[in-house]
Amino acid sequence: MAMHKRGDTQIKREFWLRQGRQFLAIAVALFFVILMAVLYKRNDLVGEFSKNALVAGQLSVIIAFIGFTAFNWRCPSCKKYLGSDINKRACRHCNSRLR
Ligand SMILES: [Zn+2]
Repeated sequence: MAMHKRGDTQIKREFWLRQGRQFLAIAVALFFVILMAVLYKRNDLVGEFSKNALVAGQLSVIIAFIGFTAFNWRCPSCKKYLGSDINKRACRHCNSRLR
């Protein structure tokens, strides 16, 4: 029983870390996408940036975010992808409690 409890605690702790990284990645990705959207609209302020470069930059941020999510947003226990709900309570693949 003691072993089981400790495993649960480690899963919850690792999920907490992964959730924190995921929130951070969402914040960083949103910041850059919005920043580049603003620059795109206010092109007069940043003359040397072409609109194509800003669109490419946004696509790069989105692709990097998807790549990071695929790597990070996984169940600590069975390593399967957790899906779109960031406040998950349990893994739908292995039923591990995450919080
Ligand atoms: Zn799982």
